[in-house]
Amino acid sequence: MSNIVMKLTSTTQKEIMNYYSQNTIERKAPGVIFAAKLPDCAITIYSSGKVMFQGGGCEREAKHWEASTEDTPTMTLSKGDALPKNLSSLAVMGSDETGTGDYFGPITVAAVYVPQDKLELVKELGVKDSKMLKDDYMLQIAPDLKATLPHCVLTLHNEKYNTVQKAGTSQGKMKALLHNQALCHLLKKIAPEKPEYVLIDQFAERKTYYNYIKNEKEIVTENVLFATKAEQIHVAVAAASILARCAFLQEMDKLSRQIGITLPKGASHQVDEIAAQILLAQGEEALYSVTKWHFANTRKASHIASKKRNF
Ligand code: MG
Repeated sequence: MSNIVMKLTSTTQKEIMNYYSQNTIERKAPGVIFAAKLPDCAITIYSSGKVMFQGGGCEREAKHWEASTEDTPTMTLSKGDALPKNLSSLAVMGSDETGTGDYFGPITVAAVYVPQDKLELVKELGVKDSKMLKDDYMLQIAPDLKATLPHCVLTLHNEKYNTVQKAGTSQGKMKALLHNQALCHLLKKIAPEKPEYVLIDQFAERKTYYNYIKNEKEIVTENVLFATKAEQIHVAVAAASILARCAFLQEMDKLSRQIGITLPKGASHQVDEIAAQILLAQGEEALYSVTKWHFANTRKASHIASKKRNF
């Protein structure tokens, strides 16, 4: 039987668990933290971080995730295209997304253009890899970034997310559509000026990305580069990542006020507990309106809620 084994980050492992949440199976083998079965492919996640795809459909399934393969120390920092050596000193439009692994709240995508004469200023404003920055700090510098740099921020609200997800759109495709939309929009905004490169923080192989957006009216293709960890490669992606994160945080605040409970980030057990509280107090529709409904958290929350009801 054919199989593919990949080492993936914990974030991607969570995405995989959510992605295959409808197909989970019980597997009590040592070291197995998650198992799912499709008609032609079994997916197993081990505590070591290794993920195995097994069966005739393994190539197809593994493909969704190959862009997220964890780099081994011997490899170069980023995967994706060969990048121009001086890229970090060029005028670049970057894009990044957030919220994909969070049960509550939207997916947000931002594109930011950093012209060459703003490169230094952007660094002075404190733009760094958003994974190294605290939420409060990002919220503080976001207004300056917005005032300084041409940008486009898109929020895919939960109702819309749930509708397109039910219609069969994968998260990967949603992300690709949003990145392309944000980039199209921003390119128009800065015309006739053009970036030397467009740098997308890579979540899918180039071919997969363009396959996702092939039916769009406008598709950004000129000088487009893909790289993982692109926020470490150019400040335009770092700034985009910050603006996407801030849009996510703001929407989470709004939803928390709407529902009357502070909504937690991520997809942990605490998230299940809060979701169960919402189910009990306000019902399914209320929960649906603030979540990515297809995540396994929905099933876990309703399990918790039904136990509490029967108590
Ligand atoms: Mg990213």
